[in-house]
Amino acid sequence: MFEHIPAYPGDPILSLNEDFHRDARLGKVNLSIGIYFDAKGLLPVLRVVQHAEQALQGERGEGPRPYLPMSGIASYREAVQALVFGTDGPLLRDERVATLQTLGGSGALKVGSDFLRRLFPQSQVWISDPSWENHRVVFEGSGFTVHTYPYYDAATGGLQFEAMMAAIAALPPRSIVLLHACCHNPTGVDLSHEQWLQLAPVLRERESIAFIDMAYQGFGAGLDDDAFAVRTLAQAGVACVVANSFSKNFSLYGERCGGLSVVCADADEAQRVQGQLNGTVRANYSNPPTHGAKVIAAILNDAELRRQWTTELSDMRERIAAMRRSLHADLSSRISSPRLDRYVQQRGMFTYTGLTAGQVDRLRIEHGIYLLRSGRLCIAGLNAGNVGQVARAIAAVMA
Ligand code: PMP
Repeated sequence: MFEHIPAYPGDPILSLNEDFHRDARLGKVNLSIGIYFDAKGLLPVLRVVQHAEQALQGERGEGPRPYLPMSGIASYREAVQALVFGTDGPLLRDERVATLQTLGGSGALKVGSDFLRRLFPQSQVWISDPSWENHRVVFEGSGFTVHTYPYYDAATGGLQFEAMMAAIAALPPRSIVLLHACCHNPTGVDLSHEQWLQLAPVLRERESIAFIDMAYQGFGAGLDDDAFAVRTLAQAGVACVVANSFSKNFSLYGERCGGLSVVCADADEAQRVQGQLNGTVRANYSNPPTHGAKVIAAILNDAELRRQWTTELSDMRERIAAMRRSLHADLSSRISSPRLDRYVQQRGMFTYTGLTAGQVDRLRIEHGIYLLRSGRLCIAGLNAGNVGQVARAIAAVMA
């Protein structure tokens, strides 16, 4: 029956990660996957998560586990809304946002894309060139045609803002424009506040639907600053769908915690949208899981735990920034190239190094250092013990 089925080519990022784990060399370094490792090279368990998990333990463990509502835990959804949209604007007060608890950022993208496909069957999707590879996979999987808009400028390691604006200004009405809120994956290149303010009226005039992916809130400049794009576009009256993920900022990758929010014109519209979102969940996986969402809701809804979380999150952000500076300084002492500034100019977990696929292959084969063949390097995999080795190897392949 299944003889004719071709082999799944695999996901390039996950396959490379598996190759890394099979590599027997001591001193190998994994800078391929988008995961934050601590100064010892370990996946952290945040102290605040441990506290919250202990507090949830009662006589019968965490207690009974009934099905959650399709939309998820109410207190979690409220916490998502406050974190994403801020508490001081009229949006939440006027109950204009519909929100789901989702299975990570990926689940939010999937449910959001299925929802839009059902309601806007004529629309097409535009993602940045380049973008996280799974964006195309998810939107095409829902049946959309996916195009790209200009984004990364390979010559400067920065943004092609004029070209991006011109492309978006020429889109048909109701086009879906996928935007990264902060810490763009894979390039580390973000719009400035000024540029978001310029983009907002264009999206609004074109009647575009902004699908904003925020997988790294807190890893750029801070929780509120990183949400600037979301809040600016929503305030400007752009139709916004927002996918947020807690995988990285709580270091809870495997718990699959995220949120999907749709900004509506009024409370009545938000209720109808919420119903359709719930229906999309029902058709996919019926309802989300309990544990991770309980932990996150407990932290975000308690002032002291929340304070502890923001401190641990700042520590992660600052460690990444320090590793950027360290790699840049070490590389600059070895070679001189205009390509080095991007190591400190780009933000978040990733740097688009500008290394060619051939140079990346040499890093892996000759030095045991793994990055993506696009040249994307995960800064969060660096630490004091390996940054010198990585700088030496990059300098060697660039020479
Ligand atoms: N969007 C982007 C841009 C990402 O980098 C990631 C994670 N690599 C996701 C979404 C998915 O997040 P999650 O792991 O929570 O599904």
